[in-house]
Amino acid sequence: MMRFEGKAVLVTGAATGIGRATAIAFAREGASVMIGDIDDRADETVAMILGEGGRAAFRKTDVRKAGDLDELVAQCLDRFGRMDAAFNNAGVLPPQRPIHEIPEDELDLAIDVDFKGVFFAMQSEIRHFLSVGGGAIVNTASVGALIADPNMSAYCAMKHAVSGLTKAAAVEYAQMGIRVNAIAPGFVVTPMTQHWADSNEFTDMFFAQNISGRAARPEEIAPTVLHLCSDGASFINGATFTIDGGQTAH
Ligand code: NAD
Repeated sequence: MMRFEGKAVLVTGAATGIGRATAIAFAREGASVMIGDIDDRADETVAMILGEGGRAAFRKTDVRKAGDLDELVAQCLDRFGRMDAAFNNAGVLPPQRPIHEIPEDELDLAIDVDFKGVFFAMQSEIRHFLSVGGGAIVNTASVGALIADPNMSAYCAMKHAVSGLTKAAAVEYAQMGIRVNAIAPGFVVTPMTQHWADSNEFTDMFFAQNISGRAARPEEIAPTVLHLCSDGASFINGATFTIDGGQTAH
């Protein structure tokens, strides 16, 4: 299937992990991919896509800065002549601490990257989608948008906020042809979670509680993002899709 032939998509946080796997999956289905990331390793994602004969470009972007996201959208239009969908995926997991021990700078990091980064991206993207009559947005939330784990309060609160923001945007822009959905992955092995994957104590405990008995690979998250950005998802709007191997099913 080449669902994105002739289309261009924007992906944030594609230097590593879920964003990288999704950017590659988009390119394999024909999309031109504009990547925004604070990490120069996004160049490696671009090289991988170009090496397979796809189209991609990277612009260094800090999602905490609204101007960077305006520029990223402008670059996508300049480079590829269009922007049809956007995957707002950049995120950070602050150090795990109980609420009473979290310093303000760690709280601010979660607010600025995990919430404001998505908000600013959506503002830039929506301005463009309004000018062309529509588009699709997918935001990365987490199972932390549905349930709470200890010592992850700021992350959990910001992922709940992303899910709420997704619904709010769907309601505001449905009549203008813009669909906005979110994904809520469970435990995916990426640089963000490698410390958990490497801990037998953590994995023994987690896998015993989780009906899938394992963590996901980033490539298992990408197909849902592509579906939500595709015409096949034309009646899906304001939803947060759980992709957790059943973690939150019991
Ligand atoms: P990751 O660390 O591999 O990817 C995060 C990406 O975001 C990186 O490319 C990083 O450079 C980028 N980034 C961080 N701060 C940025 C900033 N200020 N500006 C621009 N880019 C920035 O981790 P991942 O697991 O692939 O995470 C991707 C998303 O998935 C995040 O939003 C994360 O919260 C979410 N998520 C991850 C899991 C998991 O288990 N790995 C589960 C649920 C949700």
